[in-house]
Amino acid sequence: MAESAQKNPGRAAQAPAPTPPREGRSIILDAVNPRDFRELNIIYCCEQCSYFDSRLASCAMGFHVAKHMRENQLRLYDLTGKLALCRSQEID
Ligand code: SF4
Repeated sequence: MAESAQKNPGRAAQAPAPTPPREGRSIILDAVNPRDFRELNIIYCCEQCSYFDSRLASCAMGFHVAKHMRENQLRLYDLTGKLALCRSQEID
């Protein structure tokens, strides 16, 4: 890591590029009962996950975060009643 930082000093503070999404696969959406969403403390976004680096807005597991970010999840839920729950989400 120190060697790569010497070669490219601006790269040291950046998160590694996430792996490219697999072609032909769409993200799985889970229906969530509105009462459950309102009354239970549902963990549903990257901002609540232990793997999320808020400084870099990236995932330590190397996943694309855009579809799991709070703003996008709430927009998706408003439109469809479903959430794109991350199967690797971890909470402390
Ligand atoms: S593991 Fe999933 S929920 Fe956690 S930061 Fe990565 S993409 Fe987001």
